[in-house]
Amino acid sequence: MNRPVFRFAPSPNGLLHLGHAYSALLNARMAAESGGRLLLRIEDIDTARCTPELERRMIDDLRWLGLSWEEPVRRQSQHFTDYQAALDTLIEAGLVYPAFMSRGEVRARIEEWTREGREWPHDPDGVPLYPEDERTMSQSARRRRIAEGGPFAWRLNVPKAVARYGKDLFWDESGAGPQGETDRIAADPARWGDVVIARKETPTSYHLSVVIDDALQGITHVVRGRDLFHATAVHRLLQEILGLPVPLYHHHDLILDEHGRKLSKSRGDTALAALRQAGMQPEDIRRQVGL
Ligand code: GLU
Repeated sequence: MNRPVFRFAPSPNGLLHLGHAYSALLNARMAAESGGRLLLRIEDIDTARCTPELERRMIDDLRWLGLSWEEPVRRQSQHFTDYQAALDTLIEAGLVYPAFMSRGEVRARIEEWTREGREWPHDPDGVPLYPEDERTMSQSARRRRIAEGGPFAWRLNVPKAVARYGKDLFWDESGAGPQGETDRIAADPARWGDVVIARKETPTSYHLSVVIDDALQGITHVVRGRDLFHATAVHRLLQEILGLPVPLYHHHDLILDEHGRKLSKSRGDTALAALRQAGMQPEDIRRQVGL
C-alpha cells in the first residue's frame, strides 16, 4: 500500500509563531498516526522577503520542537523551471492574460464606483477583485503594452477557465462532516476574480506553485490553516486545467490571539524564538496548542 504523504510548507518571510507550530505538529501527528511520511517545503518564491537567515531560524525552531522530515527539503526558489512550464501551458491555452493596471489605477476605479453608489466586489479574504477589462484586450494592444517594458502580472481568466474546466468542482475535506467525517465541499473559484498566476519577473505565484509542488512531491494529504480553505477552490481549478492529482484536504483551526485575531509574523511575542528565549520548552508549546 502506498503510504500517505503530508507536508508542512512555511514561507521564510518572518519567524515561526505558535500557529505554525500547531500546523507542523498536527501534520507530524497525522503522518505518524497513518503510517505516512512528512515532507518539508520552503515556500520562498518571494525572494525579496524570504531570506536564508529566516529559513535557517525556521528550520532550527522546527528541530527544537522535535520534528523531523524526509530529505531533501524542497525549496520553491530552486524550481522556477517547473512553474515556468506550467505557466507556458496556461499561456498557450489562452487561460491567462497579462494584466497591467497599477494598484493606484485599481483604487481609482473602485472610488469611481463608490461615488456612483455601486459596491465593488471583494474576494473571500476581503480584497477588492481585479477589474475585468483587460480580459478582452486585443493581442496587438497586449504586445504593445509588454513592449513598453512596464511591470505586469499573468492573471487567470477565471470565467473562461471555469467554463472549460470548472463545472461541478469540489474537494474532499476531512473532518468537515457532522460527525467529523470527510465531506465534499463545492469549489467556487469565481469568488476570487482573476487571481495572479505569475508575474513578469517571477514565473509563479502562491496558487500555481502550491498545486505544482503538491503534485510533484506526491502529497496525498494537505493539512493547513483554515485561512486557506477558500483558496482551495482556485487550487482545484488549476489542478483540473493542468491534469494534476487531487489530495485530501484538512483545514485546521487557527491559533488566535487574545483579541480573537489570527497570529501574524510581525507580532514578535508569539514567535517561537521569543517563547524559547523566555524559557519555554517544546512540551509547553505542545500543551499550549493542544497537541
Ligand atoms: N506557505 C503558506 C503559508 O506559510 C502555506 C501554504 C500551504 O500550506 O498551502 O501560509
